[in-house]
Amino acid sequence: MGARLLDGLAVAATIRESVMPRVQAFTARAGRPPGLGIVLVGDNPASELYVSSKVKAGGESGLRVDLQRLPATATLDELLRLVDALNRSDQHDGILVQDPLPEAMGKGASQRVFDAIDPAKDVDGFHPINVGKLVQQRAHLVACTPSGVIEMLDRSGIAIEGRRAVVIGRSDIVGKPMAMLLLHRSATVTICHSKTRDLAALAAEADILVAALGRPGFVTRTFVKPGATVIDVGINRVTDEALARSLLAGSPRLAVFERRRSIVVGDVHPEVAEIAGALTPVPGGVGPLTIAMLLKNTVTAAEARKSGK
Ligand code: NAD
Repeated sequence: MGARLLDGLAVAATIRESVMPRVQAFTARAGRPPGLGIVLVGDNPASELYVSSKVKAGGESGLRVDLQRLPATATLDELLRLVDALNRSDQHDGILVQDPLPEAMGKGASQRVFDAIDPAKDVDGFHPINVGKLVQQRAHLVACTPSGVIEMLDRSGIAIEGRRAVVIGRSDIVGKPMAMLLLHRSATVTICHSKTRDLAALAAEADILVAALGRPGFVTRTFVKPGATVIDVGINRVTDEALARSLLAGSPRLAVFERRRSIVVGDVHPEVAEIAGALTPVPGGVGPLTIAMLLKNTVTAAEARKSGK
């Protein structure tokens, strides 16, 4: 195994430490901690897990985190009323509605909800105003996962300027903002997607390759230039035995799969570790950074609201 493993837990801990003095200063000045309202609709097990990590991390960093739950049968109107109440709350500086919403809420429900969140409290950075500001390089609330990736690169001493970056995935929450942030740091960026031709050859031109497509182990060694930095954003739960065996061969995590019959893997095949220069593991890579950036965004939103910016 050649690649340097980029430790997301360690970088996330550093980000969270750097946020602490800001939380303390805000709390002293405002007479209350920065407040984050999280809304969870339904009982999706993955969402439960993400939300409980966010609540725990927020509490540990001195934030006030209020989790509001709605049943899977809730209507879009009920959810929008809750968002409206959080928009008007003095105690909440950030609002996060956990995605995905139950399918019964209808197509386009997530977008309607993101559009309804006060842009000043939009700690996920999904509101069109914040997305527009990102494009113009003047956003102060940017989507947590891609901004976490930039922090990871910076804090790991990986240069971005002038380098070739390839992002696989063009979603609004990861791929597109990721590409924009890399562009703003003066990388030469290519965005690839499910219709891209010669994907492996394009990816293999990258000095920095970001895999955000949601396909377990899809990115194999043929996608990677020797020595490249590979960022694995994927979080895929695998229950298929043959797939788990092929992706986890020789890893102690195979025993975990055998016990639980389910395991989380990234979009990058483990064989990439033999050829990449640096690689983020799954778990323990990008995931913890996303949470750290959520806390950072909440404090940023609180400070901006307090100073009337
Ligand atoms: P998405 O399904 O919205 O988008 C996937 C993108 O990948 C699409 O743009 C699609 O064009 C592209 N794609 C799909 N199949 C492809 C293929 N065969 N070849 C090339 N491109 C292909 O997913 P998303 O919300 O952007 O998430 C992507 C992955 O990142 C998922 O595994 C998700 O769980 C994970 N994720 C992780 C974090 C984190 O904190 N680490 C945060 C958000 C998402």
